[in-house]
Amino acid sequence: MKQDHTPAHFEMKPLPFSSEALAPALSKETIDYHYGKHYRGYVERLNHLIANTPFEEMTLEQIVCSSEGSIYNNAAQVWNHEFYFDALSPEAAHHPTGPLLQAIERDFGSVEELKKKMTEAAIDLFGSGWVWLAEEENGRLVVLGESNAGNPLRYEMKPLLVLDLWEHAYYIDYRNARKRAIEALWPLIDWRIVEARYLQNQSR
Ligand code: MN
Repeated sequence: MKQDHTPAHFEMKPLPFSSEALAPALSKETIDYHYGKHYRGYVERLNHLIANTPFEEMTLEQIVCSSEGSIYNNAAQVWNHEFYFDALSPEAAHHPTGPLLQAIERDFGSVEELKKKMTEAAIDLFGSGWVWLAEEENGRLVVLGESNAGNPLRYEMKPLLVLDLWEHAYYIDYRNARKRAIEALWPLIDWRIVEARYLQNQSR
């Protein structure tokens, strides 16, 4: 056993924006709760659960792909939240370009159709979960609605973008109006980030 063992294995990833920067679409109160309470809680529970287990030696992605039960749920919630927050920006690029745009037009017809499909999947998702844009092994882009902590890495897909459909993501600002919450989110999605993920995946 390591002598310098520290249970705080994973640290919170800093937000790429200030907590009031996304208002009014997402209020400071929403971000403070979402990042400072919910996301923090998943990081702390994960660290507690993996203490003195082989998972301590793994990356977060390795844990997401190889764990079950509470460890999986908390690890995936950490991964998903970091991926969600990282794609939001008060100065977002509102439209994808280049190879990602070509792939979206090939598989969905247009960016508007993709947004419509993701919004519909968000409305259809029963209970808490996430709606993903992901790339299949054959290169095709797909929209997936996943319950609870569900993450496409589990199906050997490459995630590109995620919408958080847990009520804690929108209830302070939108109450039960999930569709309005999703529509308000689109202008905050920074497609430059999604493009960078897509290009990085091509070289994996
Ligand atoms: Mn959340």
